[in-house]
Amino acid sequence: MMRGERDTISQIATPPGAGGIGIVRVSGADALHVARAVFRPARGGRLEGIEPYTARYGHIVAADGTVIDECVLLYMRAPHSYTGEDTAELQCHGGTLVLREVLLRTWEAGARPAEAGEFTKRAFLNGRLDLSRAEGVMELISAKSARAVRAARERMAGALAEKIAGIRTRLLGAIAHIEAGIDFPEDDIPEARTGALAADIAAASADVARLLEGADAGRILREGMKTVIVGRPNVGKSSLLNALLGMERAIVTDVPGTTRDVIEEQIVIEGIPLRLLDTAGLRAAEDAVEQIGVARTQRHLADAELVLAVFDGAAPLTPEDEDLIVRLRNCAAEMIILCNKEDRDSVLTAADFSMLDAPVLVISAQAGTGLDDLRRAIAEIVRRMEGDLGDGALPNVERETEALRRAAEHLRTAQETLAADMGTDFVSIDLRAAYEILGEILGETADTDLIDKIFSEFCIGK
Ligand code: GDP
Repeated sequence: MMRGERDTISQIATPPGAGGIGIVRVSGADALHVARAVFRPARGGRLEGIEPYTARYGHIVAADGTVIDECVLLYMRAPHSYTGEDTAELQCHGGTLVLREVLLRTWEAGARPAEAGEFTKRAFLNGRLDLSRAEGVMELISAKSARAVRAARERMAGALAEKIAGIRTRLLGAIAHIEAGIDFPEDDIPEARTGALAADIAAASADVARLLEGADAGRILREGMKTVIVGRPNVGKSSLLNALLGMERAIVTDVPGTTRDVIEEQIVIEGIPLRLLDTAGLRAAEDAVEQIGVARTQRHLADAELVLAVFDGAAPLTPEDEDLIVRLRNCAAEMIILCNKEDRDSVLTAADFSMLDAPVLVISAQAGTGLDDLRRAIAEIVRRMEGDLGDGALPNVERETEALRRAAEHLRTAQETLAADMGTDFVSIDLRAAYEILGEILGETADTDLIDKIFSEFCIGK
């Protein structure tokens, strides 16, 4: 069968694994027909007359009439369902095998397997959601922290979509403005009109720039704040990572340089996920394997958002430590200096790090002292970022950020063209381009390949 957009589709909508309830969702014009073929109401009677938004109790039965599972059937009628189509939800027991059998029955009865994201794609195609809101659904499903959940909800509610629609309206006004004036010879356009046009473009440009600023915050919520633990071998980086995680993940040994690979773990502080990376130290390594680790550390340092720089507080600074301090001076990330091993006699003080503009904390990764202060310091940094995390109008996906960048580029060109007095029809070309690109974010001007690609990244059953 052709994979048409009109086929009735079905898929298990609940996550894999055993659960109390598992749901097979059937969507499409034949949803009720498929349900009728596989479902036998406990009280007899026919399913045809079922009122939308009501439930029926009964059984899923095989073609030969044997019972496969108990089931509560929920019926939703187009267009008032998630997909905008007729939808039957078969709520069964949550065992993987049982659900699989129920699903197979729906396929036997005429539904075809739904592809990844196909339910949400239909919701989009039926005008139930714009692309930005659809991506909010995906984010909500994969959200790793409470705050990411909130951002995803706001996106589903259309925070970003509304901002972008506002910018587009403004651009449309500017384009209309130009079209109206284009019949006039160049030098007849009154100054005042050009001035208003310039102001409009500048405002649109500023709005796009603001959305782009939110892109980093959006990514942090989605992927976590990239937190790099650095320090020369044996200062206690792995011990710190373990202490923060409260579990043994990194291998702690006495041999310098054993943490050769970068280890990544996640913790959540103040609702923000932190991606913790323990690195192989920055020392000038002879050993090839370790050298790779060192290069990687450099790279991680370059795009870290938070650096936890660990020093052995019980030993004077070594040349390697000094070298690290110099590197840290050039690092743009937020930073916390940690003097570890406070259970031993401390020789380092805050004065040793006066070159760095960062808080210095004394801790013992092994004894677990000072870790609360560290959490508080991290929370403080997270709170400082709060302002940026703002109102949920965060471009969260690479696609959107990239589109915003292209739109910003066109708006900049438009401004330059206008300033250089090169003719407003050229300005119009760039404004139109920006208008179209912003439309892509909402899915209005997106082509089908792009739409297919976006929805294919969803999980099966969504
Ligand atoms: P890394 O190479 O920087 O990852 O350091 P490790 O975490 O592997 O620790 C190196 C050594 O220092 C191990 O023997 C740890 O047990 C020890 N160590 C780590 N933290 C502390 C601490 O707070 N106090 C003391 N006394 N020893 C520590």
